[in-house]
Amino acid sequence: MDETTAAAAAQRTAEMLVHVGRIARCEAQTPSLTPAQWAALRFFAHANRMSRTPSAFARFHATTRGTASQTVKSLETAGYVERRRADADGRSVVFDLTSAGWARLAADPLNHLSAAIAALPAAQQDTLAESLQQLATALARDRDSQAFGSCGQCGFLGAAEQAGCPFQCRCTGALLDNEDFQRLCANFSPRSGTEAPVEARDSQKAS
Ligand code: SF4
Repeated sequence: MDETTAAAAAQRTAEMLVHVGRIARCEAQTPSLTPAQWAALRFFAHANRMSRTPSAFARFHATTRGTASQTVKSLETAGYVERRRADADGRSVVFDLTSAGWARLAADPLNHLSAAIAALPAAQQDTLAESLQQLATALARDRDSQAFGSCGQCGFLGAAEQAGCPFQCRCTGALLDNEDFQRLCANFSPRSGTEAPVEARDSQKAS
């Protein structure tokens, strides 16, 4: 493929990504949450315990802290998230989904897209997930913003010295269990391109 053809193909792929994102967010019924509220609900459901803050959501959603705080407050008022003191220092506040929040998330308009992805062959799902992570990281680097990802692709992942817990975060010092391993992290820093991702099952083997 020559350079012009490759550039045109990349442009079509970029347009298709935006198209898929747009139709996936549409709700069949009357919208009950705004796109920003859905994004926040998903973020607090899937971010790790160190990252469930309004400021991390602001960076993830590429919005201002004030706008992110308003969105989180609206979810709190609706009873979908609740605040608690962070474990680490007791000063910052993190948000968890309530049972009503988890019930609301069960009707996420993105579920149709998730089901379509789940219907792809496993190898294609892995390739898609890896490609999207690379795209998100490249965009964050080009825009000088924070990349988000999870432990398996993170340069801060280190071996833990504590028995029964194979990994430790070299950024925060936190010991990482299998649940942490899968989640989005606001402190993520991508591993170098030559390093293979570490899989969560490695932690299960080692524990
Ligand atoms: S290893 Fe990376 S992704 Fe995992 S908790 Fe630490 S900073 Fe976050």
